[in-house]
Amino acid sequence: MTIVAIDGPAAAGKGTLARRLAAELGLPYLDTGLLYRAVGRLVLDANGDPKDPAIAEAAARRLDPADLARDDLRGPAADAASSAVAAIPGVRAALLDFQRGFATKGGAVLDGRDIGTVIFPEARTKLFVTASPAERARRRWLELLAKGSDADLATVERDMRDRDERDSARAAAPLRPAEDAVVIDTTDMDAEAAFRAALAAVRMRLGLV
Ligand code: C5P
Repeated sequence: MTIVAIDGPAAAGKGTLARRLAAELGLPYLDTGLLYRAVGRLVLDANGDPKDPAIAEAAARRLDPADLARDDLRGPAADAASSAVAAIPGVRAALLDFQRGFATKGGAVLDGRDIGTVIFPEARTKLFVTASPAERARRRWLELLAKGSDADLATVERDMRDRDERDSARAAAPLRPAEDAVVIDTTDMDAEAAFRAALAAVRMRLGLV
């Protein structure tokens, strides 16, 4: 079974890469960040505090796959709520089976923060996709502008660094490269170069070259 685990910090381009790799390899793709975003959103819907373990875990347990298709899972409030609920061990435990189950029907490409370290530590093909904080903030800011937002770059960069810090400092499944991950720094790459580098790494790990 082919599992491609892609981890990395916010706005490193993991999603674009993962989607393209999945299409290239003929595998289904799961953006696991959506799970945490949807849990955060359910908590906000109920006027709850995303840092409250009991409320957040209850939301994770009643998560429905249809929640992943909501159109309000992006933006600053969802960003902050997702990384707050993601630090709660009970939330992570509640989402584990769904992630593992997704890949058991013949493999998958999954992206997130702990795919190579916790969800599929035995996967042969692990990528850690990163870029400098300034470059990641610039890309996220341009995305927001394209959607009509008037966000300013300094605020985007500050929020992103705060979220990375929370994701890296938490005790439960902190963001870090798996020891056997191929690290791809896309700071000086465009999307095409990043895809070629990722595909070469995947082919090497799968023994296709
Ligand atoms: O990948 P994305 O930025 O959409 O993820 C949103 C948040 O969900 C992250 O900041 C992180 O806190 C959490 N997350 C996680 N583990 C994953 C995927 C996402 O903790 N595998």
